[in-house]
Amino acid sequence: MNCVFCKIINKEIPSRIVYEDDKVLAFEDINPQAPTHILVIPKKHFSNLVDMDDKELIGHIFMVIKKIAKDRGVDERGFRVVMNCNSEAGQTVYHTHFHLLAGRKMHWPPG
Ligand code: 5GP
Ligand code: ZN
Repeated sequence: MNCVFCKIINKEIPSRIVYEDDKVLAFEDINPQAPTHILVIPKKHFSNLVDMDDKELIGHIFMVIKKIAKDRGVDERGFRVVMNCNSEAGQTVYHTHFHLLAGRKMHWPPG
């Protein structure tokens, strides 16, 4: 499968990893949109959230996001979690991923 994030998981493509366990990988986004911009992904390939049916894994991903936000010291000041699902939402990489964004004032509604 020609998936860029699977290649990052397999270390075929380098990335700046910030967290890893047997189920999840988190790494710095290559094109950061905020001072903190981390992608949290399941190691198992799912195209997007529509294909994900593993409640425990989805819950675990959010626990990891929370831990990274705390480790970065942005849990109190605030952070945003974004998951773009399919084309109209702006998904460009079809291995599901959660953006953790922090370190600047966020706008609402999102663009
Ligand atoms: P999407 O638009 O699908 O929600 O987000 C895809 C994200 O993946 C983008 O923020 C983009 O910068 C990031 N990205 C794409 N290719 C790579 C890569 O090879 N390495 C890293 N670290 N991030 C990537
Ligand atoms: Zn993949």
